Amino acid sequence: MKTPMHRTGYVYDPIFQQHNLANHPENASRLESILKYLEINKILAEIHPINSRMAATEELLLVHSADYLSEVKAKSSQSEYLDPDTYTTPDSYLAAATAAGSLIALANAVLSGEVQNGMALLRPPGHHALPHQGMGFCIYNNEAIAAKVALQWPGIARIAIVDFDVHHGNGTQTVFETDPNVLYISSHSYPFYPGTGNMNEIGSGAGTGATVNLPLSERSGDAIFKKVYSAIVLPIIKRFKPDFIFINAGYDAHFKDPLGNLGLSLAGYTWLCQFLVDIAGEVCQGRIIFSLNGGYHLDVINVAVANTIKILLGRSDTVDPFGSSQFPEPVESIDTDYIPRLKKLHHLD
Ligand SMILES: [Zn+2]
Repeated sequence: MKTPMHRTGYVYDPIFQQHNLANHPENASRLESILKYLEINKILAEIHPINSRMAATEELLLVHSADYLSEVKAKSSQSEYLDPDTYTTPDSYLAAATAAGSLIALANAVLSGEVQNGMALLRPPGHHALPHQGMGFCIYNNEAIAAKVALQWPGIARIAIVDFDVHHGNGTQTVFETDPNVLYISSHSYPFYPGTGNMNEIGSGAGTGATVNLPLSERSGDAIFKKVYSAIVLPIIKRFKPDFIFINAGYDAHFKDPLGNLGLSLAGYTWLCQFLVDIAGEVCQGRIIFSLNGGYHLDVINVAVANTIKILLGRSDTVDPFGSSQFPEPVESIDTDYIPRLKKLHHLD
């Protein structure tokens, strides 16, 4: 395989910021703040911009219904809500189609060898969006759409989507529930919004076993994540042998997040991102894209995204100005009960 022209690519489009509602946690200040931080810390200059674009209707239809696309267009024009949490503005239709299309563009850049890996600075986020319904701040399921498009490339037979957002990605799970070629792995707080993500949800039909849920108790943090990702995620991805890895990168599992209740630190996130980049290096020639999902504490997401990009670039100067959670992680039988149950469920060992 030829060496990519650039190490790390990124996508962003100013239209994302037109989807905005002041006082809603998922508002334009998130990306504004991240971009400013990346600029000040001279990180943007080190990564390669990939042109943003709208997703074509046929691409959106790979995941969503025609009726739902019409609903998004109609409700956007009236700034109506798609569900009690998911607002629209007159530009939301364009912003959502551009978020999905830009992730496709970045994935195509990785697949064509223009870049090795990438960071998608997207809004609105994707992982709660269902085929027929917007949900939980999400309009289109960006990662599911990009994965479906990537599967059309020659030589791309299997894709893994790993979701470390504090919330379960019910939309992504639903899209690929019966698909044996897309492995969906989610770690999330449970029970918590949106209510799904029980360990026993493992996919169905031909897709049985290709859905892996890692439900975690409140305040689970760095130590528990390390154990669970090492014992479960690593062997499952190695067994599945994906050709490409997408990460639903939600930074709301940080202990300071105003919407979350898990206990990850930025050092914990650094470990996790490095772990996933290393797996991609081992199983799929380093082809990995992190796609922004949740994360609502601005100072935390600035550093978390910058750290992720540094890891993608192969840099080791990640930082953690906030330290660890003051609350201890739950005392649970992770080793004696939780991990053995997951291993049994997914036929490991
Ligand atoms: Zn979230």
